Amino acid sequence: MVEKMNFEFATATRIVFGAGAAARIGEYVKGWGSRALVVTGSNPQRAEKLLAVLSASGISATTFSVTGEPEIATVKDGTALAKKENCDFVISLGGGSVIDAGKAIAAMMTNEGELLDYLEIIGKGETLKKQPAPFIAVPTTAGTGSEVTRNAVLGSPEHKVKVSLRSPLMLARLAVVDPELTYDLPPTLTASTGLDALTQLIEPYVCLRANLMTDGLCLEGLHRAARSLREAVLNGQNKAAREDMALASLSGGLALANAGLGAVHGFAGPVGGMFTAPHGAVCGALLPYVMAANLRALRERDPKSPALGRYAHIARILTGNQHATADAGAEGVQNLVAEMPIPKLGAYGIREEHISAIVAKATNASSMKSNPIVLTSEELAEALRPAL
Ligand SMILES: [Zn+2]
Repeated sequence: MVEKMNFEFATATRIVFGAGAAARIGEYVKGWGSRALVVTGSNPQRAEKLLAVLSASGISATTFSVTGEPEIATVKDGTALAKKENCDFVISLGGGSVIDAGKAIAAMMTNEGELLDYLEIIGKGETLKKQPAPFIAVPTTAGTGSEVTRNAVLGSPEHKVKVSLRSPLMLARLAVVDPELTYDLPPTLTASTGLDALTQLIEPYVCLRANLMTDGLCLEGLHRAARSLREAVLNGQNKAAREDMALASLSGGLALANAGLGAVHGFAGPVGGMFTAPHGAVCGALLPYVMAANLRALRERDPKSPALGRYAHIARILTGNQHATADAGAEGVQNLVAEMPIPKLGAYGIREEHISAIVAKATNASSMKSNPIVLTSEELAEALRPAL
C-alpha cells in the first residue's frame, strides 16, 4: 500500500550551527537596528560575552532577566521594557523558557492589544496580524528545540495552566546553536533537557503527522542522542557529546514543529501547569511508560499501524541491536532514564490522587491529537502511575 504524502515544512529563516558560532552574532544581525533587547535567565552576567560581541558591532543592548518559566506578566514586563528602550530586535540567550519569553516579547512589540487576546484556551485565541520584531534565539541548553518552534509556552498562575502563544510568524529570524554554550551545564540540567530532546525525537517519529522531512531529522537525532546522552551527563566537557546533543535538540525541535508530538507532551502540559517540575524531567519519567502503553494499544486496536514498525526501528537505534523488538526500545529508555540524575514524578508532589485530574486535562491537550493511537483514560492512567 502506498501511503499518501502531504506535508509542509517551515523553520527559522536562518540556522547557524557550530562551536564558536555565538561569537559571530554581531555579523549576522548587521542592518537589523542599533539597539537590542537581550533576554537572559536569572543570571544576566552570563550575557556579558554576547553584549561585548554586540557592542563591537555598534549595537547597544538592554537586558531583561527571566527567572523560571515565563508567565503572562513576564511577557508584559519585557514588552514594556523593549518599547521604552526603543529596541529594534530581541535576542534570547538561555534555555527554553528564556527563548519562549523572547519569542513572545518580539511578537507583542508589534501586535496591538493584550497578550490574552492572542492566547489559546484561556484567551480569545486571535491570530497575530503583524510580523513580530526580528527575533534571534541562542540556546544554552540542548533539549527544547525552542529556537526553531513557532510557539511560546507561557504559564498563567491564575488559571493553573500553561498555554501557547502560537503563530507561523513567530519563527525566529535567526537561530544560533553553539554547543560551546552548553559545556558548563550541570549534569542534572543536561539530563533533564537531554531527555526532553530524546522525547522530541521519538514522539514526532511515531506520530500521525510524521513526514519524510521530519523522519530523517528524527533518525539522525536519535543516533546522536543514543550515543551521547549518557556521556554528556557524565562528562560535560566532552565536546563531541555536547555537539551530538545540540544537534539532537535542534533536530527534535525541527521535527516537532513540523510533525507534532504525542502523549508524553500531552501529559507534560497539565503536569507543568499543576506542579513545579522541570519539563524535561517530566518527559523522561513518562517516556518509557507511554511508549509501552502505545505499543499495547496499537497491537490491540491497530495492529497494521506503521507506528509499530517505527517503534522497532527506534529500539534498534537505542539498543544498537539489529534484532531488538519494539518492547526492548521502551525497556532501553526505562534503563537510560533510571541512570539519569533525575527523580520520578512523586518527588514533585504528584500522587495517586492527582491521576484522574491530570488524565482529564491531558486528554484535551493539543499534543495528544498526534499520538499514534487514541489512548483511553484507563490507558493514560496506567501510563502515568508507574512514572510517579
Ligand atoms: Zn518537550
